[in-house]
Amino acid sequence: MKSSGADGKPTSQRTETRLVTAGRDRDAQKGFVNPAVFHGSTVLYPTAEDLHAHRAEYTYGRHGSPTTRALQDVMMALEGPQCAGVGIAPSGLAAISTTLLSVTKAGDHILVCDNVYRPSRNFCNGVLARYGVETTYFDPQIGAAIEKLFKPNTKAVLVEAPGSQTFEMPDIPAIAEVAHARGALVIDDNTWATPLFHRSLELGVDISMQAATKYIGGHSDIMFGTISANAKAWPMVAETIRLLGVCAGPDDVFLALRGTRTLAVRLAQHHRSGLEMARWLAARPEVARVLHPGLESDPGHAIWKRDFTGASGLFSIVLEPVPQKAVDALLDTVTLFGMGFSWGGFESLIIPFDCEGYRTATKWSPGGPALRLHIGLENVDDLKADLDRGFAALKAAQ
Ligand SMILES: *Cc1c(COP(=O)(O)O)cnc(C)c1O
Repeated sequence: MKSSGADGKPTSQRTETRLVTAGRDRDAQKGFVNPAVFHGSTVLYPTAEDLHAHRAEYTYGRHGSPTTRALQDVMMALEGPQCAGVGIAPSGLAAISTTLLSVTKAGDHILVCDNVYRPSRNFCNGVLARYGVETTYFDPQIGAAIEKLFKPNTKAVLVEAPGSQTFEMPDIPAIAEVAHARGALVIDDNTWATPLFHRSLELGVDISMQAATKYIGGHSDIMFGTISANAKAWPMVAETIRLLGVCAGPDDVFLALRGTRTLAVRLAQHHRSGLEMARWLAARPEVARVLHPGLESDPGHAIWKRDFTGASGLFSIVLEPVPQKAVDALLDTVTLFGMGFSWGGFESLIIPFDCEGYRTATKWSPGGPALRLHIGLENVDDLKADLDRGFAALKAAQ
């Protein structure tokens, strides 16, 4: 098979290559490697006849531009052949809320994993409940036993693999088999692994979304979301995007597109450094447990090995019991690990967390303070030295 580089949409190229070649139209870009950033609302129609027929490649700013088309083409290539369309949202949370509004109506029921991103839970308990959609949370490790939670009106199952903060790993193919037998759709918040390391749509997921704020953007400089759907689900998602008026600013679209070009090399490094730091932390006397599905000791490891081709740089640790002031001393001492929310940028981050107050299907009682780390692209020896100083401060403060 002949493969034609930037932009002939060949099928024989590997994903890393498609991340570089997809979404590039040499002629439309006047020879430049990257597309123009189209700032636009109005699109002019050449004739009255065209206007009456809405006949134009682009019809209105909200509905897309050559810049959004380029990003959608790259995301399609990244998701694989099951992907029938990609929607763009102004944040990861907007991608989730738009997705959930696409698949539900008043009187419906959905199943959501208990370790879902907390604002997703707040959306279900807030907006969906207000519009008459009931949510049941389930233990992410439930597997095929999810069957018993289905009701006649269950329309969708939302999973996150691995889940936020605590990184339990759901068995997506097992859950998808049950859901599809019951006529429900499966939605996967695939932000942690990205489609590069976890091919959601090939594992039975119908709608896979990204908080592209994280690894797709990759530089902590945008808020962005994407919704990728298979042929069954895409018409619902596309219609809801249109009805809600969901879109994103062109500069952020461009930065998301730029992020995709280097996604493969960045993620490969996050994978390596993340695992090395996880192993180093697992051997520390101050650390009781490391929550990282890439570690052989992790309860989710077998599923991770089966369903994933890599791990990103985000995981958590549980410390041996120490007073809060000792944890704070660690946090105030480290300098390469910044304290702040979000993740997926080039820089390392650390935050304390506690899920005890809001999980409902599982009980979180780790037995010591918990910290979530994002391992950035710094040299791992520098990161270890930084944490070494942090642990010394923790010890001194006890
Ligand atoms: C950050 C995050 C989101 C939300 O993304 P925003 O762009 O911050 O709205 C959704 N899901 C997961 C798993 C996340 O980590």
